[in-house]
Amino acid sequence: MILVFLGPPGCGKGTQADLCASFFSLLHISTGQILRDEIEKKTSLGNEIDNLCRLGSLVPDSIVTNLLEEKIASSQGNGFIFDGFPRTLNQVSLLSSILEKKGRLITKVFSFFLDDSIILKRILGRFVCKSCKAIYNEYFKPTKVRQLCDVCLGKDFEKRLDDSEESLKNRLKTYYSEIKPVKDYYTKKGFLEEVNASFEPDVIFKIIKEKLAVKEGEY
Ligand code: AMP
Repeated sequence: MILVFLGPPGCGKGTQADLCASFFSLLHISTGQILRDEIEKKTSLGNEIDNLCRLGSLVPDSIVTNLLEEKIASSQGNGFIFDGFPRTLNQVSLLSSILEKKGRLITKVFSFFLDDSIILKRILGRFVCKSCKAIYNEYFKPTKVRQLCDVCLGKDFEKRLDDSEESLKNRLKTYYSEIKPVKDYYTKKGFLEEVNASFEPDVIFKIIKEKLAVKEGEY
């Protein structure tokens, strides 16, 4: 199974990708996370990526695809979930050639949509566990015990550097201007499913499974 998740920042596609990855035994590939991992290595490439991400600008395709191909090459599994890739029409072609080399086809493309006012709260309230990267939100999804990660019991949390108001505005602007032709392309191909991302995560997950025509007890 090859799934593609498109959506503005803060729409919850990362959470849905995690749920689908464990349910269908797929590898969750988030280009945003791959880039953040590179930033943490503090290499010159990492610094270059850092500067672009802080501004809310897209990282050049050559960098993103190189890192993405490295990740895919080093992994096995039933299939992949591409989260945050492709983001431009050029990346659509890049993904097609990556999949072609592997003899694989896209199963479905889920495009999440959400009101900008909710996106703002979701992004500006977002914080992440430093060790396992579990995602929380001070308004909608705090840790069960204050200052303790629900998943790994870590005590250190951080905000993503690009989760500032200024950067968010730019990320939204870039997202809406670049994603339209991507969605048009996948609609024409018959792959695209729109998903209202304003519901609770378990409701959205159920909708996704329905759209994938998963029957009760099938997995
Ligand atoms: P995300 O975690 O998907 O919100 O991505 C965080 C940041 O990483 C984005 O604002 C971009 O700067 C960069 N990024 C993530 N995915 C891509 C991509 N497919 N192409 C270019 N830049 C990307």
